[in-house]
Amino acid sequence: MDRGLLRKGILFVLIGPTGSGKTTICARLTAEFSADLHYSVSVTSRAPRPQEVPGKSYHFMSRKEFEERRERGEFFEWEEIHGNLYGTLKANLITGIDAGKDLLFQIDVKGAVSFKHAFPDNTVAIFIVPPSFQALKERLFNRGTVDPQEVRRRFSTTRDEYTALLGLAGKPGPVDYLIVNHELDQAYEQIRAVVIAERSRFHRIDAGSVERMCELEVLDREV
Ligand code: 5GP
Repeated sequence: MDRGLLRKGILFVLIGPTGSGKTTICARLTAEFSADLHYSVSVTSRAPRPQEVPGKSYHFMSRKEFEERRERGEFFEWEEIHGNLYGTLKANLITGIDAGKDLLFQIDVKGAVSFKHAFPDNTVAIFIVPPSFQALKERLFNRGTVDPQEVRRRFSTTRDEYTALLGLAGKPGPVDYLIVNHELDQAYEQIRAVVIAERSRFHRIDAGSVERMCELEVLDREV
């Protein structure tokens, strides 16, 4: 930060249905802000999709291993989404927050609620949506995802996400920003602007840093 200002780390949470572009946006953000924005890789019990890279897209593990690690209290939060388990490891969070780093997450609405509850001042939740259901469908099919069962599963997850979003509409709550992804570059610019603006939020700046910045003792000699 400018003038040696220190601040608390921010947890940027991207939420959004399949086809919203959140994975692409996530990749762009971590590439642009590679020095100080780290992606938190979630754990899942679902099978990898063809283009997914283990350890980068997700840490893939069996349901049994997931449940064992859950029993050992290793997860900060976890959800069961259409038969698969997904979760954020406590270790990911602690490493990031302690290092004063900003972290980036891709999770569902319920997960975002858990984050807001535990870290209300540090969490910035951004919900990304495709412009219409038709666009979502086209994006999904253009990607080559044609297995009808998988498509139904994803639409069903989308339905749950929108139902949760609707329940939060019109009042302050866990979702901070809603971004409609008509066009990827434009949506990216909006989200990038959020990241930059949130990094200047006054309440996260360390009080000692503000004191040093003001240099009152220097000013006192001049007035
Ligand atoms: P997919 O199977 O399409 O990768 O993900 C299904 C849903 O699980 C998406 O809404 C995704 O954001 C969510 N998800 C992925 N990782 C996590 C996690 O660690 N915690 C929670 N709560 N949801 C997650």
